[in-house]
Amino acid sequence: MSGSYTAGVDIGGTKIAVGVVSEDGELVDSKRKSTPVRDADAVLDVIVELVQAFGDYDIAAVGIGVAGLVDSGRSRVIFAPNLGWVEEPLRQQVERAVGLPTVIENDANAAAWGEYRFGAGRRRGDHDLIMVTVGTGIGGGIILGGVLQRGANGVGAEFGHLRLVPDGRLCGCGRHGCWEQYASGNALVRTARGLAAERRPEAALMLSLGDGTPEGVQGPHVTDAAQRGDEVAIEAFEVVGAWLARGMVEVATLLDPAAFVVGGGVVEAGDLLLAPTKREYAAQLVARSQRPMTDIVPAELGNLAGIVGAADLARDPGSGADQRDAAVAAATGSAAKVAQVVESSTAAAKAQAARKSPAVARETPGR
Ligand SMILES: [Zn+2]
Repeated sequence: MSGSYTAGVDIGGTKIAVGVVSEDGELVDSKRKSTPVRDADAVLDVIVELVQAFGDYDIAAVGIGVAGLVDSGRSRVIFAPNLGWVEEPLRQQVERAVGLPTVIENDANAAAWGEYRFGAGRRRGDHDLIMVTVGTGIGGGIILGGVLQRGANGVGAEFGHLRLVPDGRLCGCGRHGCWEQYASGNALVRTARGLAAERRPEAALMLSLGDGTPEGVQGPHVTDAAQRGDEVAIEAFEVVGAWLARGMVEVATLLDPAAFVVGGGVVEAGDLLLAPTKREYAAQLVARSQRPMTDIVPAELGNLAGIVGAADLARDPGSGADQRDAAVAAATGSAAKVAQVVESSTAAAKAQAARKSPAVARETPGR
């Protein structure tokens, strides 16, 4: 597939973006459309329309990043509540519609792979790297020995639901004390509101950016106020940064990465978040004196990490027999072979669906 392009698809809550990506990770063209609300068929139609709009490029394969649980065969969306997908055989549907080998990836895994191959990871040359995405919740991806770790069922690296606080705050997943309840965009707002309610005069600047009440404080107000020197807003970042570090220390105790790449909207605050994170991490890291400090660096690709990562994973032949066959078929340009592969992966998907219980989807926390 040397010299060829692949398409990366990022299905967001408001926009579906498709990019044409070179093998060097360069985005050469892109288009986007609004995400249809809770209409699985309409979402599929938009993906197909956008991919087909790039018919002038010699696209070899399609990689799709989905916010949800994806099976380890990179074929089915097990559960994507925001898109209305349960046990959706998305690979088969897209392959049939566009006639190209397709893989489905969890969006946080795709972003981690994008940063590893073409963002913060490429510059560093590390092959043991963990991405932590701090958005409304916490997502992430694990790369060890240069291999994306999906787990046995494809649902690993759900960092946000690591339990940091026994009997702590209730999480949307139904458990208590999950990491994302303490270190995320939502946690930042919650912390800032709590501090502002206790110390209104000190928080005057931050409060003035909203409607004057602690409840009116939103995420951008906290960042804006902290950048302008508001002590309470700065303290909110310190609290959340410390919690971010405590979760990272647990992850590092298990996996010993060379670096954490921190992405997501909250990281736009830069050192307001990452300075307290690094301080607390250094203070808490197990056997700190016997090991080098793990690097903690901001992500570099921003919103493009998911598209670039998904596109690259679509050309990665090491991640599944189906995909290897499809890649060979695509490289030889044989339509008959592609059709054959689509048929065989359809059969494999059906067999897999039959083996797996839908109960998995209900019992597993979403992102
Ligand atoms: Zn949780």
